[in-house]
Amino acid sequence: MIAAADFNITKVQRSKLNDINLENIPFGKYFTDHMLEVDFEDGEWKTPEIKPYQPFLMEPSLAALHYGQAIFEGVKAYKNAAGEAFIFRPHDNFERFNISAQRMQMPEIPEDIFMEGLKLLINLDKNWIPDQKDHSLYIRPFMFSSDEAIGVKPSDKYKFVIILSPTGPYYSLPMRIYVEEQYVRAVPGGVGYAKAAGNYGAAMFATAKAKKKGYDQVLWTDAYEHKYVQECGTMNVFFIIGNTVITPDLESGTILAGVTRDSVIEVCKEMGFRVEERSLSIDEVIDAHKDGLLHEVFGTGTAATISLIKELRYKDYIMEFDTDKWQTAPEIKARLNDIRYGRTEDTHSWMIKV
Ligand SMILES: *Cc1c(COP(=O)(O)O)cnc(C)c1O
Repeated sequence: MIAAADFNITKVQRSKLNDINLENIPFGKYFTDHMLEVDFEDGEWKTPEIKPYQPFLMEPSLAALHYGQAIFEGVKAYKNAAGEAFIFRPHDNFERFNISAQRMQMPEIPEDIFMEGLKLLINLDKNWIPDQKDHSLYIRPFMFSSDEAIGVKPSDKYKFVIILSPTGPYYSLPMRIYVEEQYVRAVPGGVGYAKAAGNYGAAMFATAKAKKKGYDQVLWTDAYEHKYVQECGTMNVFFIIGNTVITPDLESGTILAGVTRDSVIEVCKEMGFRVEERSLSIDEVIDAHKDGLLHEVFGTGTAATISLIKELRYKDYIMEFDTDKWQTAPEIKARLNDIRYGRTEDTHSWMIKV
């Protein structure tokens, strides 16, 4: 059991916060004063360190750079009107982190290092959580193999790190989406359900091609038939057809189990929607569109919470939506934000006080 006293803490002499205006700060560009770093060596996690944010020194042979044992998480902390800091569902991210670690043959991180470390670090950099409307502190835990050798094998050494980045509102304009039929993000038996760094690298080529065609993102389809919808870029995807909210199920292991996805499912149920987690074919989506039953389509993820989809293109069939008229997705987003910023009762116990 690791307690707060077991962390080695070195504080900065002077906070960088004095030099930065946190208003409308771009996503992921600025980092707070401190970081958490723990090494795994000789089969065990060493003493966790919280220290000034600083570069790593690394050998060119660093294993992660060659064979890609690298995983990460995305979490957010919010300040309520009284100035108290809360983290949104961090335990779910902790559990998912270890699911990713297991799949990538990396050591699991003990709960107390992850959770206590997170709280200690955020507490130390609490002033970095912006007060402004819709601002938050983005939390990036990650782990990578740190052997200095290029033999192909699971590394003996790993580094677990948490960095924090203050962020403004993630203004995501309604997106135009290209239904991808050639490239795939994930396959059954693969690593799609893990938050592995390589999944992101592997998605960039297809995304860049879609961008050249004038689209913002791709809607991934299944690897065998290119028929069933999977995820939208790096977000989970939801369709409101009639009175039912539908999102792909997690059974095949090709979908990342988003914490936002799970939260949206809960909120939709509370709003009285029928929610179905099941396979959904692009043909069914098109039929619903032709019948006038396809009401709203949106992506979900920690960075933007909900991104509306204003156009969906499958081959030559184009589905366009007037997102200004949508009621449901904006309400889901508002309800989630009310919980996060402490404006409504947190009946799910999603908010963890720092
Ligand atoms: C991180 C991620 C999501 C969203 O997960 P959240 O926990 O909601 O942030 C969805 N899809 C992919 C592929 C992801 O990597």
